Amino acid sequence: MIKVDNSAKRRIFTESKTQKVLSLKAQIEKKIETLEANRTYNYDKALCKFEKELNSKNLSVFKFKNAIELKIDELLQPQQQLSESFKRELQKLKKSLYLILVGDISQIRFFIKQLRDNGSLLIHLYCDETNHPKSNDYKKFQEIFEDLYKKELSNHSIKKSFFEMFEDINVCPYCNRNFINPIYKKTKIGCDNETQSPDIEHFFPKSMYPFLSLSISNLLPSCSFCNKIKSNVDTFNNCKSPYEIDNKIDFLFEFNQDAQDINKRNVTVKTKLNNSEILHLENLYNEVHLHYINDIYFDVFSHPEKYLNELSSTLKADESEQRKWYKSFFRNYADEADFNKHPLSKLTKDLFNHLNSVKQT
Ligand SMILES: [Zn+2]
Repeated sequence: MIKVDNSAKRRIFTESKTQKVLSLKAQIEKKIETLEANRTYNYDKALCKFEKELNSKNLSVFKFKNAIELKIDELLQPQQQLSESFKRELQKLKKSLYLILVGDISQIRFFIKQLRDNGSLLIHLYCDETNHPKSNDYKKFQEIFEDLYKKELSNHSIKKSFFEMFEDINVCPYCNRNFINPIYKKTKIGCDNETQSPDIEHFFPKSMYPFLSLSISNLLPSCSFCNKIKSNVDTFNNCKSPYEIDNKIDFLFEFNQDAQDINKRNVTVKTKLNNSEILHLENLYNEVHLHYINDIYFDVFSHPEKYLNELSSTLKADESEQRKWYKSFFRNYADEADFNKHPLSKLTKDLFNHLNSVKQT
């Protein structure tokens, strides 16, 4: 797992490149930043005035909000025969759409908590002990958000604008193993696909929390393995989103001597979260990447003096020299901010720290 920036700039996107639209986008982002810096979080009050602006329809937040409102209004029509309690919840939901669409991950989590604590009808937990079946009201509600997600985020140019917000991320933030760069071909060969995108992963599954289908703080580009293996697990308890984790605390690789071969190392993942188990990470790293770890071990321990000399002279140099040495030795990025650029960067950095601790003992 790798930390991903959840700042306001990552929460609104547009297909338009005109100055007027981009300037409106910048104003709204600034407003969100101020709101969150002041810890006031009244997204709905702060953003509704921008809705009337001439270019607002070009921005994802207003486009999605209008589309959701229309669909909820349709659902509230008498012929849909929804229960009065479900209708009341939908009316309340309509008042929180800005929060849902652009709120940061902590506010999304807080919103979910309130609904869960109140036994909301808008959430369906598959692992609920009572395992009650979905109500017809819920099925209709889930269907409209499923359709909205497909309509609003499956179109090629919209998807392209969404992925542009994440163009600094080359590797899946869940596994830090697979590249996720979209492909945009200039020419076709026969009937091949001109474009190919990574998956868009819902951290809180849309089958349980349909109202988060278009919430940007719930969406992340991911590899298809992680998206599929995560599937419909309820991630509300004891899991953190890549937007929430702390790379140094929440998720650490540890290296242990192999029981059969003292020259080899295995990997364990030290974490209090369930993410690693859900994503099968410890097993994957042991099954697929042990040779990578053991190659580095071999390089270090076959010539330990050389490594230690290089390391101690590098540590005396400035930061850019240190980075250069790390890149040439480990073929990866040393800075946390760059972990999303290359596969296995987090594993490599933890291995580097481990080697230094071994060296000192
Ligand atoms: Zn992945």
